[in-house]
Amino acid sequence: MKFCSHCGARLDQRIPSGDDRPRFVCDRCQTIHYQNPKIVVGTIPEWDDQLLLCRRAIEPRSGMWTLPAGYLENRETMMDGARRETREEAGAELTTLAPFALFDLPFISQVYMMFRGPLASTDYHPGQESLEVRLFAQADIPWNDLAFAVVRETLECYFSDRNNGQFKLHTGTIVPPPGMPRQPHCQ
Ligand SMILES: [Zn+2]
Repeated sequence: MKFCSHCGARLDQRIPSGDDRPRFVCDRCQTIHYQNPKIVVGTIPEWDDQLLLCRRAIEPRSGMWTLPAGYLENRETMMDGARRETREEAGAELTTLAPFALFDLPFISQVYMMFRGPLASTDYHPGQESLEVRLFAQADIPWNDLAFAVVRETLECYFSDRNNGQFKLHTGTIVPPPGMPRQPHCQ
């Protein structure tokens, strides 16, 4: 951030008095521009024993497989956002949603809220950000071609629960393995 979005003046980066970390500060209008984590909402779309994955059409990790997910919009509930992202990326509708995983990703200042839920039908199609959308049985999940560590973690928790016969809410902190991209990855 270089310029103040209120008055256009050049910003200074420093620790304001009474604070404990650097902020972007405008010396003309005195606004402090706080930057805080973004919330990403997504789904695990189920159809019988299969899950719907999307192959990314955009960087980073273009060509890799992921679950439908993206940034929560202002004035939107997490569940509505998760449904919207599923519609946008996979052209799919879900019936009921259940909270499944809440992950911190402090290395990119994001929080992920993932829901699971059944597809309303097999009517789905790739949206603009997807090359391909398809159902995978557990044995066919492309583990070596998953886009992000958080997707791998979510799927591992999912199949672990399903194989144990009981779904629960998972929480945790994602640390990317070496080689995984460290930049924000959701559009
Ligand atoms: Zn200003």
